[in-house]
Amino acid sequence: MNELATRDVDAPTLDVAAIREEFPILARQVHGRPLVYLDNAATSQTPRRVIAAFDDYYGRYNANIHRGLHTLADEATAAFEGSRETVRGFLNAADSREIIFTRGTTEAINLVANAWGRANLKAGDEVLISRLEHHSNIVPWQLLASELGFVIKVIPVDERGVLDMAAYRELFSERTRLVAVNHISNAFGTVNPVKEMAAIAHAQGALILVDGAQATPHQPVDVRDIDADFYAFSGHKVYGPTGVGVLYGRAVLLQAMPPWQGGGEMIRTVSFEDGSTFAEIPHKFEAGTPAIAEVIALGEALRWVSGVGLDAIGAWEHRLLVHATAAVSRIDGLRILGTAPGKAGVLSFVVDGAHAQDIGLLIDQLGVAIRTGHHCAQPLLAQFGVDATCRASFAAYNTLDEIDVFAEALTRVIGMVR
Ligand code: PMP
Repeated sequence: MNELATRDVDAPTLDVAAIREEFPILARQVHGRPLVYLDNAATSQTPRRVIAAFDDYYGRYNANIHRGLHTLADEATAAFEGSRETVRGFLNAADSREIIFTRGTTEAINLVANAWGRANLKAGDEVLISRLEHHSNIVPWQLLASELGFVIKVIPVDERGVLDMAAYRELFSERTRLVAVNHISNAFGTVNPVKEMAAIAHAQGALILVDGAQATPHQPVDVRDIDADFYAFSGHKVYGPTGVGVLYGRAVLLQAMPPWQGGGEMIRTVSFEDGSTFAEIPHKFEAGTPAIAEVIALGEALRWVSGVGLDAIGAWEHRLLVHATAAVSRIDGLRILGTAPGKAGVLSFVVDGAHAQDIGLLIDQLGVAIRTGHHCAQPLLAQFGVDATCRASFAAYNTLDEIDVFAEALTRVIGMVR
């Protein structure tokens, strides 16, 4: 509790009641009870204006982008490229050509692995990955390592779920080429010191890829301040749609990288005699028709979240976390995993004598949605000797009353399964 309280909560407060009005799904019932949605780290809910962006696009100007000369194609292209500019501003990138639209964080990391990794990594090279990573920032590197023969070294975490920075420094060698680390851990909520990690990596001649899937919904992100070489996030965790995400990459790196996927849109010329030449960034990495409506809706989501203010959202989620931590700490035999100072709004826990899966199923019967399982972070959970936890994670629209409903429901459910 004391550790949690170290985070500054001086930011402006939110009008949570007004925010809730903007999310139609929050009015629904589940099993006859008001929905209490605490699975935001998996997917956040979507405000009306983001939903409306789909209606507007398909109802008014649905057309393929970039190649058309007609009005609808022009309008769709303008809205799509407008989103790219919104993302640029959201991340404070220097240049909108540094913003690549992908299907999500997973595809963004696979793009870096396959385009940058294939061209720059060879046998004996080293890539540093933290034990806190989501599988999507582990497996692409393992797949590539088994082909190219580079070595993956693991940055350890302590019993609170905090990265061991002394060990991090010591892992570097003259063969270290890349650090791949998340900004915020989805399983434990740890906020990693990515700016400091980037400075250390760069001093050692390595690049840094930051998985920002859990950071973009909860705090302002500035890729230039972090000095990230690559930064990835997903639309559906930041009040936007599924099926779209972003890879930010430094222009000089993206320009030097070969394409990953081939097809329309990413070429300049194609010839059977002379082979193909490729478009400039960002189009070089956007083969095929993209998720046009989703990209436009993502822009809408980012404008929404920026309008509300990420400082205020982060501060509110911190209040929710403190409240929830106090409430569940009263439950006998409950152990919180992930106690990093200043952690984000993620509460992971296990309960003696009650399997996470049973808790998740039963608490759903009371209208409360939490996530149970390994959270795609098996190496992390293995260190803590568990294969599953329950995880409640918070968003701008959650209330203190909902936390009370959750804590009460949890107490009831644990009583039933024990
Ligand atoms: N990294 C982190 C930290 C995540 O939380 C997630 C989603 N749980 C991902 C990557 C993968 O995101 P997506 O499934 O949207 O590609």
